[in-house]
Amino acid sequence: MNDPSKMKHDCSNQKECLQLLQAILDGEATQAQKEHFMKEHLDSCMPCYQNYHLEVAIRDLLKKKCTREAPQELIESIKKQIQQNLRA
Ligand SMILES: [Zn+2]
Repeated sequence: MNDPSKMKHDCSNQKECLQLLQAILDGEATQAQKEHFMKEHLDSCMPCYQNYHLEVAIRDLLKKKCTREAPQELIESIKKQIQQNLRA
């Protein structure tokens, strides 16, 4: 269980974190990278935790898109949210 009050609210290398979590979700990260990031980082880093869930949501939508259930605007709005998190 994540305890939001104990989590960091800023990430010093959020861009690298985002790239790493995208690699993990795309199955391109090593097992060690994956374990370290998921267990050590996501539990303590709020922006990366949020980005992780946004990326998962995008991948779910993209999967549904194959069956024409996912509206493109929804995917775009989630992507924008991630960009905003990066700038914050
Ligand atoms: Zn982070």
